Amino acid sequence: MHPGYEAVIGLEVHVQLRTRSKMFCACRNAVGAAPNSQTCPVCLGLPGALPTLNAEAVRMALALGLAVEAQIQPQSTFYRKQYFYPDLPKGYQITQGPVALVEWGHLDIPGDPRVRGTEGPVRIRLERAHLEEDAGKSHHDLDGKASHVDLNRAGVPLLEIVGAPDLRSAQEASDYLKALHRLVVALDICDGNMEEGSFRCDANVSLRKKGDPAFGTRAEVKNLNSFRFVRQALEFELERQAERLEQGLPVLQETRGWDAVAGETRGQRTKEAAMDYRYFPEPDLPPLTVNAAEIEAVRAALPELPEQQIRRWREAYGLGPDEAQALAQSRAFAAYFDTLARLSGSGRGAAAWMLGEVSRTLNELSLGIEAFPLAPDALAGLVRLVEARTLAFGTAKDQVFPALLAGEGTADAIVARRGLAQVSDRKAIEALVATVLQAHPGPLAQIRAGKEGLKGFLVGQILKAGGGRLDAKLVNEVLAQVLVKD
Ligand SMILES: [Zn+2]
Repeated sequence: MHPGYEAVIGLEVHVQLRTRSKMFCACRNAVGAAPNSQTCPVCLGLPGALPTLNAEAVRMALALGLAVEAQIQPQSTFYRKQYFYPDLPKGYQITQGPVALVEWGHLDIPGDPRVRGTEGPVRIRLERAHLEEDAGKSHHDLDGKASHVDLNRAGVPLLEIVGAPDLRSAQEASDYLKALHRLVVALDICDGNMEEGSFRCDANVSLRKKGDPAFGTRAEVKNLNSFRFVRQALEFELERQAERLEQGLPVLQETRGWDAVAGETRGQRTKEAAMDYRYFPEPDLPPLTVNAAEIEAVRAALPELPEQQIRRWREAYGLGPDEAQALAQSRAFAAYFDTLARLSGSGRGAAAWMLGEVSRTLNELSLGIEAFPLAPDALAGLVRLVEARTLAFGTAKDQVFPALLAGEGTADAIVARRGLAQVSDRKAIEALVATVLQAHPGPLAQIRAGKEGLKGFLVGQILKAGGGRLDAKLVNEVLAQVLVKD
C-alpha cells in the first residue's frame, strides 16, 4: 500500500449464541434437523403470535459485555428492522435500537508494528453488542429451476458485536477477530464454527492521508467467514482503494463481496441503492431491564478468560506469545494443557507436547482434544521421563508416544519393557564419542580448521551410534570437551 495512507478498519461480527432455544420462542436452536422442522407460529411470523425474550441469550450477552469490561445498560429496547426477503417470514428482524444491552468495551490485541511504528499491544474499542434474531436460509438448486427456504435458523439468537474503527491493518483485523473468537468460545456462548456461519464478520474499510483526523469514504466487505479471508480481502481492498485515490478517483460508499476464488472484492450495491429499514420500536416486547444482582451473578460465573490464561502461562512458564495463544485455542485444549502442566511438573514440556505431537495426532485423526484417546495423566508420565532426562525426546516421540496411543501401558512400563531408557552414563558416552571421532577423521580435521558447522554432523553420528537413546545434552558437553582438549 502507498506509504502516505493510513488504513481505518472496523469489524461487525455476528455471533450465533448457543442457547437451547431460539431468541423469542421455544423452538430448538440446533443445526442438522430436517428443514422447517424447528419452527412455530412465532418464528414463522404468523399473525397474532407474540415473542418472549430468551433469558439465556441475555445472560450470554452480559457475559461477553463483562469480559470486555463494557458498560451494561440497565435498560435497552428492541426495534423492528424492516426489509423483504424470502428467508425472513415476518418481513422484519427484531434487533436492538439506539441503546444496546452492551456498550463501549475493549479488547487488547498485539499491535502491528509495521503501521504503529512501535511494538506492544493496542486497545481496540467495542462500540456496542446487541441482541437480535437470525434469518432463515435459502438454498438454490444448481439447475436454477427452484429455490428452497429452510426456516430452522429463523429466530436463532445473534449477538452483533460492533467494533470501533480502531484497526490499522489487515493483520490487526485478523488478530482482533481471533481474540474475539477465542473469547466467545471460552465463554461457551458460541460454538465458534465459522464454516457453518456461527461466527461471521463484515468489515468497514477506508483510507485516509496520514495525519488526517477525518475518515475517508468507506466500503463494507460482507460475509467474511475465515481468518484467512479477512486478511486477504482487507489486503486487496486497501490496495484497491489506495490505487483509486492515487489516480484521483473517488472511493464509492458501497457494499462489496469477497470472491475467494478470484482473490478480489467486487461491488454489490452502492449507497444510493441502500435500503431504508424504517426502524421503529417493537410493540410486542417490553424494554429489556437488567439489575445489579443479575449482572453480578453473571460476573461470578465467568471462567478464566483466554487473555488471562495467556498472561498466566507466559509469566509462569516463560512461553512465547504465539505458543500461549495456540494453547488458548479452546477451553478444552487449555484445560488439558493446564492439567498436563500440573501433573508433569513442566509447563514448557507440556506446551511442547501439546503443540507438537498431540496437535499433529489430532489433525491426523480429525479429532478435537475432547476425543483425544490419552488422558492427561498418561501423557504426563511420558513428559516427566523426558524432562528428567530418563528418556531421549526422539525416542519418546517415535516409540513411546505411539505405544501409549496404542494402549501398551504406562510410559514407565513401555520404556522398561523395551529397554529404551536414555543413556546418561558419561563413561559410555565418552567411549562412543571417541569411536565416532576415529571413524570420521575428515570432518574432525575440518572442525579444527574452523568449520564449526560440522559439529552438528558429528553429534548426529554419535546419537545414531547410540541407537537414539543417548542424552543429547551430555553428548554435546563431552564432544565440546574432547575438541578443546585436543
Ligand atoms: Zn419458533
